[in-house]
Amino acid sequence: KESVHRICSGQVVLSLATAVKELVENSVDAAATCIEIKLKEYGAESIEVSDNGLGVEEKNFEGLTLKHHTSKLSDFSDLVNVTTFGFRGEALSSLCALSNVTIITRHDSADVGTKLVIDGNGKIVSRSPIPRQRGTTVMVQNLFYSLPVRHREFQRNLKREFGKMMQVLNAYCLINTTVRISCHNQTGKGNRMTMVCTNGNPSVKANIADVFGPKQLMSIMPFEQHNPTEDIYTEFGIRPDRSQTCNLRIEGFISKCEHGQGRSSADRQYVFINKRPCDAHKVLRVVNEVYHSYNRHQYPFVVLLIFMSSGSVDVNVTPDKRQIFVEGEQILLATLKVSFSLPTGNITE
Ligand code: ADP
Ligand code: MG
Repeated sequence: KESVHRICSGQVVLSLATAVKELVENSVDAAATCIEIKLKEYGAESIEVSDNGLGVEEKNFEGLTLKHHTSKLSDFSDLVNVTTFGFRGEALSSLCALSNVTIITRHDSADVGTKLVIDGNGKIVSRSPIPRQRGTTVMVQNLFYSLPVRHREFQRNLKREFGKMMQVLNAYCLINTTVRISCHNQTGKGNRMTMVCTNGNPSVKANIADVFGPKQLMSIMPFEQHNPTEDIYTEFGIRPDRSQTCNLRIEGFISKCEHGQGRSSADRQYVFINKRPCDAHKVLRVVNEVYHSYNRHQYPFVVLLIFMSSGSVDVNVTPDKRQIFVEGEQILLATLKVSFSLPTGNITE
């Protein structure tokens, strides 16, 4: 039973990137305005995520790291209106099965912090008082030690895994306004890298400047949404009476279509559905195809915030919640195609 839990846990926490992603999501869910990520040896030795969020109440200590314990869904019908990142209670219990987890937390109701050391089954093995401000620190040591093959693979590809983690972290930095997120890495050679990812800006645009540098703002423009024509609806197989069903709204920033404003590779392309970062391959394919027709061999910078009625989005498809099934997918793709084909906004209806 224990090994089954370990294997399943390996499907929730796939990599350094997913480990950090889950911890950052928990901090955002806890209403943190400052999140600090500290890695040792690119995360191979330890990953520490500290926040100034709500903290954990003492009565919730025991359940915190048990499988399917979540404080975020009270009722099954809530599943259609998920607004927090987490809702399945799998991340912490999975991390416990794959690494050595220590949690330090303080809730407003406590006058001192508590340090909890957790075992592989999610049980608390020691509990001690420790000073700390309100908030939570989760420390993950020896990630994947219990899955030897994954562990060796991780150790072999540390820098690449670290790069993937930064890519994921960038997405959270872009979308979370008013949250300051910083990341440090320390190596045995005494090297210390500090990367302030975002300073708690009020807008996504300011976050773009923090994450990619202020120069990036010069080559991008706001995305303008236009409604598909009858022809486009037909091309995408949408019946006219279905076209209004998902209350689609698209915002964000894309490269200007002028020559030389794109990029030679498909990095810097981020799609969010209802503020959740996701791998939206089909969305990016449409966007890239249209862009290629203006600027051959170039990819646009893309930060797209797609909002749809939560009833037409299912975030529950894969354990990492990155693949999102969209009922109104064709409507979304059709809208992107028309909007992107009219980059100057001179729409002739
Ligand atoms: P989920 O996020 O799906 O609820 P997790 O396993 O990620 O499940 O976390 C389990 C529970 O632990 C959460 O529901 C939350 O109550 C608590 N928790 C985890 N991280 C934090 C944090 N940084 N601050 C406050 N509470 C937290
Ligand atoms: Mg979570």
